[in-house]
Amino acid sequence: MIEDKNQDRTSLAELGEFGLIHHLTEHFNINHSSTVKAVGDDAAVLDASEKQTLITTDLLIEGVHFDLSYMPLKHLGYKAVMVNLSDVYAMNGTAEQITVSIAVSNRFPLEAIEELYAGIQLACQTYNVDLIGGDTTSSTKGMLISITAIGKANKEDIVYRNGAKETDLIVVSGDLGAAYLGLQVLEREKQVFQVDANNQPDLDAYSYLIERQLKPEARKDVSGLLKEMEIKPTSMIDISDGLSSEIMHICSQSKVGCKIYEDKLPLDPQVISASEEFNMDSTMIALSGGEDYELLFTVPIADFDKVKGNPNFSIIGHVTDESQGMNLVTRANQEIELKAQGWNALKEE
Ligand code: ADP
Ligand code: MG
Repeated sequence: MIEDKNQDRTSLAELGEFGLIHHLTEHFNINHSSTVKAVGDDAAVLDASEKQTLITTDLLIEGVHFDLSYMPLKHLGYKAVMVNLSDVYAMNGTAEQITVSIAVSNRFPLEAIEELYAGIQLACQTYNVDLIGGDTTSSTKGMLISITAIGKANKEDIVYRNGAKETDLIVVSGDLGAAYLGLQVLEREKQVFQVDANNQPDLDAYSYLIERQLKPEARKDVSGLLKEMEIKPTSMIDISDGLSSEIMHICSQSKVGCKIYEDKLPLDPQVISASEEFNMDSTMIALSGGEDYELLFTVPIADFDKVKGNPNFSIIGHVTDESQGMNLVTRANQEIELKAQGWNALKEE
């Protein structure tokens, strides 16, 4: 390995593009029989079999989607994979492959890119997906990561956004709002929070919030849980921009309305206490916070007994006729029209 004067900074320029690609990808295992050829040729080769193929891409840009002053590169790599897998799981499919494309400036030494790939590799191992290719190029300043996930599902198992029916129950996995508050905590601590320092501020009271922001997990398990319960959702979406905007996607594509009940929104105790501390409304955060990567879905009302009391899921409302609009029923029993403000809107307040 070619090294700088500085022991743990190997310049990317000296390694060269092909050396870099080889170095970054040589320790990835291939596990799926659908992966016929992974990294190393002009294109990867997949065997799609009789199932339908799911493909989804996300592009993450430094300064827009992530801030390296508090986002360790390993976490960034992990999260970049999660964001994509979450979209595959939201179709009720299985993710099997990813491609990873990066643009990096010479501001980053090899060791930094290794960290990024360590996170990507951990995600691949944990979620059983094969890295099958990508592209590597230079950028003048920041870092850019684009990941594509490829999955499959039986045609009859795929769940779209457009199948919600009047009277269906609206269900969400996990809890909401924590990732957004984690970001607030990290931004507040930005001055003192150093990713690698041993001497970190005491963030114990926010551990769950920070974990949800820095190390989100995609809900790979939900598809299996639903199968066990013999439930097929009528519609499904993952929560990347906040509950409000996702439920509106389901409603507009399904041509229905909805009622969401404020007192049913699943909130972690840390979300409640941090909301108070930041002087923010926890309902607003649950609705508009984003980056939760939970799954939001609708099920026929006949499945009520199967879902209620399941600790993985919360029934937060029901589907109505389109003419009734999309509403939040508050604790005071008032109806407020839902607004589609993603976390960006919340940030600009
Ligand atoms: P080409 O010039 O044909 O685009 P590349 O030299 O970019 O080929 O890529 C060579 C191989 O390495 C291909 O299999 C490609 O998919 C893979 N690859 C390139 N960059 C990355 C990366 N950042 N991560 C994973 N695989 C990569
Ligand atoms: Mg290329």
